[in-house]
Amino acid sequence: MKKYTQNLNCNYCGGDGYVQLLLGGSETCYACGGTGKKAKEKQC
Ligand SMILES: [Zn+2]
Repeated sequence: MKKYTQNLNCNYCGGDGYVQLLLGGSETCYACGGTGKKAKEKQC
């Protein structure tokens, strides 16, 4: 049974920092910039 923990990883790449391309290979995730972490919302 898995523990349900708050996922702080990027929703787009799942924390890998890159995304798999359908055509093959991979590229840096534009959503997190390769960090794999969910982008923080800036508060003014
Ligand atoms: Zn990402």
